Amino acid sequence: MATTRDLLNRAKSSVREVQGDELEARLGEVVLLDVREADEYEQGALPGAVHMPRGYLELQVEGRLPDKSAPVVVYCAAGVRSILAAKTMGELGYENAVSLAGGFDRWKGEGRPWKTPRSLSADQRNRYQRHLRVTEVGVEGQLELLASKVLMIGAGGLGSPAALYLAAAGVGTIGVVDMDVVDASNLQRQILHSMDRLGERKVDSAKKTLVTLNPDVNVVTYDARLGADNILDIFDGPSGDGWDVIVDGTDNFQTRYLVNDASLLKRIPVVHGSIYRFEGQVTVFYPYRGPCYRCQVPEPPPAEFAPSCAEAGVLGVLPGVIGSIEAVEAIKLLLGIGESLVGRLLSYDALEESFRVFKMRRDPQCPACGENAAPIVIAEYDDLCLPHVIEAPASR
Ligand SMILES: [Zn+2]
Repeated sequence: MATTRDLLNRAKSSVREVQGDELEARLGEVVLLDVREADEYEQGALPGAVHMPRGYLELQVEGRLPDKSAPVVVYCAAGVRSILAAKTMGELGYENAVSLAGGFDRWKGEGRPWKTPRSLSADQRNRYQRHLRVTEVGVEGQLELLASKVLMIGAGGLGSPAALYLAAAGVGTIGVVDMDVVDASNLQRQILHSMDRLGERKVDSAKKTLVTLNPDVNVVTYDARLGADNILDIFDGPSGDGWDVIVDGTDNFQTRYLVNDASLLKRIPVVHGSIYRFEGQVTVFYPYRGPCYRCQVPEPPPAEFAPSCAEAGVLGVLPGVIGSIEAVEAIKLLLGIGESLVGRLLSYDALEESFRVFKMRRDPQCPACGENAAPIVIAEYDDLCLPHVIEAPASR
């Protein structure tokens, strides 16, 4: 039977070791894989390293490092675990996995570059443990979500489930725009609010619910009607550098056109949802990567065909389905995973219980995002939502 020493010697003979000076010269060109435990990693790591404790290597490495021909430098604390890890990677088909001689301790002792990685607190590790177990999210993805900013337009039927799930998922900053007060007739579907909030500003009620659900979330409220006078400031967000994603739950055409035009100017993707009776739709308008709202709806339908939510009935659960899908799309955009609904419209029929997907193309003649579109001007729209962009002067 082989001893530990035999095992290690055998691994050493099949794995190449690199020295610190060789690696330092190639930083940025190679994938760095840190196989230490979480508490070791949190004390300091090589910049840009992928963290995957040795115990998870076989289970996670193919998902997180899919390119098996890429050069990978594995390191641990002293250079022993990394040799075993690099050997395993070789057996899994990685062609260029090598081990850092002396590990992180020698690297640090030699005065080479390292940093303290962002990390989750013990409470956060517990709260988000089901995210951490999904390799597409993991610690890095969770940190990304915590650093993300999503603006909800409307704290109503669609905004309620979307904001609740985004807060639960740990999206660090959630903005809420709404000008209404909570009314008993909202409670059939607007699950952010409750009987003890009747008459309260919706943004305040939303904030109470969201921070009670997750104290990690910073809720920024805009108790205002979204208009041409404030939309660009609101889209710039609390730190002035813009929201990462906008979730649109508005129910009127004027606001949708306004949101569309401002999001094109600010280049912020919009997750768009709409509901009517038993039917709902979701898509993602990604500025200049896919169609915009005006590509899809160049002009509003006549008023008699476009009843507002106040007039049209809606099944109370329907916004729960559509708003939840909006939250899924927002999180995918934030994490850069999966296939987003850019250029696709997902349509849901609750009575049939069916989903359909329709392709949507960018209109080269679109007055807002087309090749020859005039500069966008943010303006109040009248009932016809006339596309001011066409009539706008050449300068802005
Ligand atoms: Zn367009």
